[in-house]
Amino acid sequence: MLAIENIEVSYYHTVQALRGLSLEVPKGKIVTLLGTNGAGKTTTLKAASNLLKLENGDVGEGRIHFDGKNIKNTAPDALVKQGMFHVREGRRIFAEMTVEDNLIAASYALDGRGIKADFDKVYAFFPRLLERRKQIAGYLSGGEQQMLAFGRAMVAKPKLILMDEPSLGLAPKIVKEIFETIRRLNTEDGTSILVVEQNAGVAFSVADYGYIMESGQIVLEGDVETLKNDKDIQSFYLGVA
Ligand code: ATP
Repeated sequence: MLAIENIEVSYYHTVQALRGLSLEVPKGKIVTLLGTNGAGKTTTLKAASNLLKLENGDVGEGRIHFDGKNIKNTAPDALVKQGMFHVREGRRIFAEMTVEDNLIAASYALDGRGIKADFDKVYAFFPRLLERRKQIAGYLSGGEQQMLAFGRAMVAKPKLILMDEPSLGLAPKIVKEIFETIRRLNTEDGTSILVVEQNAGVAFSVADYGYIMESGQIVLEGDVETLKNDKDIQSFYLGVA
């Protein structure tokens, strides 16, 4: 579904953020990308959804293929139409608009088909958004804002969702709810998902495969079951003594 091969990303041609990074998200799978602060996780997602140019970032000579096509020169809004949706760090909802207007705004990126049905599905997954649909989004709790950011992705009916640290700053109960939804969307709709996390425990609870990155490079990868048994992963990421 997504294949990134050997990309070298620098910002302003000076700060090198990724050094020959390759990763893959097979169709219908959930893949997690883990790493400490500044490892380059967000940069990897921005490279995939072509947002780096907005920040003077450059992906160098490497290859990025989505759904079998080279997308290195495809604009971010065209990628949404092709079926890739990036739920960005910090949630990026429209704070002054109502919950429902946020969903409507997400649907503008598409051609208007099946929109009501899509909202019903979002509300079925997140009943709390239905209760608050006329409320101004800026007044939602952090967890509800993350649900709304996820709901906006669902409206676009993507083939691939890129999620940047959905657990950040949320209570464990809400994190569990968000990750259950990730799993549900994957099993019910076959949506492929690449989820960036610092919380390995929760990421491993849903992912099939994982990559660990440090200083702009992948240092370890494998099936989640294998990674869970890795001694370094256990001590650095899973808090096992
Ligand atoms: P975090 O978990 O803290 O969000 P991350 O793994 O997502 O970290 P990135 O945000 O991708 O890491 O950052 C990777 C490197 O690129 C860091 O050294 C960062 O300072 C640098 N960087 C990121 N964005 C920019 C930018 N717009 N301009 C210049 N340097 C940047």
